[in-house]
Amino acid sequence: MAGLIAKHHTDEDAAREYLEKQLWPDGPACPKCGLVGEAYKLEGETTRKGLYKCAGCREPFTVTMGTIFEDSHIPLHKWLFAIYLMCSSKKGISAHQLWRNLWGTDESGKQLGSYKTAWFMAHRIRWALGQEPVAGRLAGIVEVDETYIGGKERSGVANSKYSKKQAVVALLQRQGEVRAFPVDRITLNNIEPVLKAHIEPEGQLMTDESSVYGRPQDYFATHDRVNHKQKQYSRRVNGLTITTNSVEGFFSLIKRGNYGTFHHWGRPYTQQYLNEFTFRYGTRKMSDHERNAAAIQKTSGKRLTLKEPKRA
Ligand SMILES: [Zn+2]
Repeated sequence: MAGLIAKHHTDEDAAREYLEKQLWPDGPACPKCGLVGEAYKLEGETTRKGLYKCAGCREPFTVTMGTIFEDSHIPLHKWLFAIYLMCSSKKGISAHQLWRNLWGTDESGKQLGSYKTAWFMAHRIRWALGQEPVAGRLAGIVEVDETYIGGKERSGVANSKYSKKQAVVALLQRQGEVRAFPVDRITLNNIEPVLKAHIEPEGQLMTDESSVYGRPQDYFATHDRVNHKQKQYSRRVNGLTITTNSVEGFFSLIKRGNYGTFHHWGRPYTQQYLNEFTFRYGTRKMSDHERNAAAIQKTSGKRLTLKEPKRA
């Protein structure tokens, strides 16, 4: 563990300077008027560290303003460490493990920090990871599939609001990114708007034989199907591989995470966890370092007003 702990993961000044470097590559950016590189640092004994004053609008600001860290009582270096841990763990990290890595216990065995705070941080980070990447629509070959994620089911409630399982649809651009969304129920009428909103009309759709994909040939360039009921999983047609194996592989990652790492998350949190898994998938070819930098970019330009636990 010790090898990967950076100074900005343990020291608050180093954390602030690190975040400034990451979010302000061209100098301090005023969150009020948008002026970049034209602010001066305010220094003095009573001045809080990291405070700048904009030469344009004359307003004071800091690097955490307008980020998910704004107004947080949790030290910035803990936040940065949490992001790093989430980005460098292939299967995700449970809130308990996060707490142990961020705080743990002191020599006398006294518990430091709290599980609740770690849980809160992980959710705020997941929320940030889900912001903004939805720029433009998926193109080329897009595999689409649906599944149910969650705990054990009593009989007769599947695909209903009484189900503990959450219906999820995923759209995976081959060689590209994946997007995943919880849907109320898996029906043609629920799936169709998701497909239209997220896939270019020129897209080549690949699905299984399910009737919920009944109309896509009317609005996408092509729509090929594999018939799983007939044990058909992949076939070559005119040099093209018709399959939904990639999107199914993505679902198995999520299910392993739900079962193994996160011990069946509650249905209301599904989108947050999907954010984490789609982010990790979209950055799968990056190093841990690059993925961490990409995640930090997403912490800016928004603020989540989820209520923070009292003790950090
Ligand atoms: Zn300004």
